[in-house]
Amino acid sequence: MVNGYVPASLAEALELRSSRDVVPYAGGTDLMVENRKGVDYLFLNKITELQQICEDEQYIRIGAGVTFTQALESPLVPPLMKEAVSRIAAPAIRNAGTFGGNLGNGSAKADSVLIEFVADAKLRLCSVSGERIVPVEQFYLGRKKLDLRPDELIVEILLPKSGLEQYVYEKVGGRNALAISRVSFAGVFAMEDGKITNVAAAFGAVADTVLRYRDIEAMLIGKTIDEAKALKGSYLDAYAQRMVLTRGRVSAEYRKTVCMNLLEDFLTRFDI
Ligand SMILES: Cc1cc2nc3c(=O)[nH]c(=O)nc-3n(C[C@H](O)[C@H](O)[C@H](O)COP(=O)(O)OP(=O)(O)OC[C@H]3O[C@@H](n4cnc5c(N)ncnc54)[C@H](O)[C@@H]3O)c2cc1C
Repeated sequence: MVNGYVPASLAEALELRSSRDVVPYAGGTDLMVENRKGVDYLFLNKITELQQICEDEQYIRIGAGVTFTQALESPLVPPLMKEAVSRIAAPAIRNAGTFGGNLGNGSAKADSVLIEFVADAKLRLCSVSGERIVPVEQFYLGRKKLDLRPDELIVEILLPKSGLEQYVYEKVGGRNALAISRVSFAGVFAMEDGKITNVAAAFGAVADTVLRYRDIEAMLIGKTIDEAKALKGSYLDAYAQRMVLTRGRVSAEYRKTVCMNLLEDFLTRFDI
């Protein structure tokens, strides 16, 4: 038997989260697999405040309880996020799985989290004593390691409204693809007045957390395409040296080769 509480509002949920020993339960697609015994769940699926997608001047705000299917149907969610989400599992999982649950699972394979990394997304975390806005990179610290306090819930994902138009997204393999290891990559590119203003690159499923190296990206920021071409070799070398990958179904070396090819394709796509 599954025990738990079914709060009808965020305030009620936060109250329960601070006063009881409960495990948040959104779509349950990860928790069902874990099948934990003897825990009390805090069911979040009746809380409409968590299920909204809206926008303000700066951000598209995706509620933690929004399912992947809802996001695919929303005109507000940017194409890059939709492309990643559309590749998640099968419709049954996309109908139940949520953005908050994808983060809460703390896996480097989480497809929506990869996009949050490359997009410089922030998270709104709430508790009875207030809220924090935290960049996803500071929240998502490693395998099952999150900067989430015991009384907090993930409430919203804040995706920047602009700057995500030019992108590359690749997911190599999948949970059911037994032949090759799974690697995911997202890159976002932007130029202004002939100079590169963004060349963000993030890698999923190859280490304990999503990988992104801002200091290496900085090598190409402010450069023209010709200047970036001249730096391409040292930029790729810097990634090759920095990336320490864990072994998956196949060797770390194979995964690294895939990552380096994806990175090079990303640059080539934007004429570098
Ligand atoms: C067959 C199968 C295929 C899958 N394929 C993919 C795939 O291709 N890509 C992918 O990324 N994932 C995949 N998943 C994993 C899973 O579907 C996702 O991680 C999904 O986003 C989890 O969301 P959920 O709402 O079901 O989370 P739940 O199972 O409800 O919760 C997951 C974790 O998040 C915590 N949590 C949930 N909501 C909150 C909140 N608001 N605040 C704080 N903590 C919270 C829970 O306590 C739990 O620890 C797959 C799973 C299955 C079973």
